Amino acid sequence: MTANNAPPTKKEFCIDYPLYEEFTFAEEHDQEGWNVFFSQEPIDTYCPGCNAHSIFHQNNLADIPGYSAGWVGSKRYAVILKCSRDADHKLFFLFDVEGRNVQKIGQYPSLADLNTFDVRQYAAVLSTEDFREFTKAIGLAAHGVGVGSFVYLRRIFENLVDAAYQNAKKEDGWDDDAYLNGRMADRIKLLAGHLPDFLVENRSMYKILSQGLHELTEKECLSAFPILKMGIELVLDEQLAAKAKQQKLEQAKKAIHGLVSKAGAEK
Ligand SMILES: [Zn+2]
Repeated sequence: MTANNAPPTKKEFCIDYPLYEEFTFAEEHDQEGWNVFFSQEPIDTYCPGCNAHSIFHQNNLADIPGYSAGWVGSKRYAVILKCSRDADHKLFFLFDVEGRNVQKIGQYPSLADLNTFDVRQYAAVLSTEDFREFTKAIGLAAHGVGVGSFVYLRRIFENLVDAAYQNAKKEDGWDDDAYLNGRMADRIKLLAGHLPDFLVENRSMYKILSQGLHELTEKECLSAFPILKMGIELVLDEQLAAKAKQQKLEQAKKAIHGLVSKAGAEK
């Protein structure tokens, strides 16, 4: 993720990054760049062959440069990850390198195939339309469509913030003027307690939502994509957890009720 310019890990670059999004590794991050192409560290991600999460390892065929800056230059690298359950299950990524600037220029299976498995769970807490747009946004970003995917995610994010607002404004002392006149970061701050803490603490990341679409480039939208997607997932994760808790409470109530009525019958 490019939010703080920390270099992406191998997994982030392969699995989360859209195609054609560029990242320039600083000289002190040569090792992180090397890792993207050559590291054999295990990667836990969705395997379309298994239709489940699996552990993947890189299968290095070509020579591996022995020093951390060995990958820098004008080059292309293929990264092939093999599923540990079945060596025929492979993920293929192609990277283009110019100097220290790196972009992913190809992959199979598609980013949408690799990433929609993990979001399927959110169908339980999103409206049908929002869920369809969520997966559509992932597919568009996978093909490097920045503004289009951003529009979908922004709408879903705003719907979630609005739902939190509907709850918050029922509270005593709610300052509706401040909310309505605030920009997205101000609104998120006012919704503390109704949105995940992480969002509230990192609300400056969502400043971009207050900018008009015409002010944003394809590239800016693509860079904002992982941040926006993460924000949406954090909110939905809390909703899923609350839903699971509610279901468990209801089951417990039923079980206790069963016990009580059984005890009553035995008397
Ligand atoms: Zn597999």
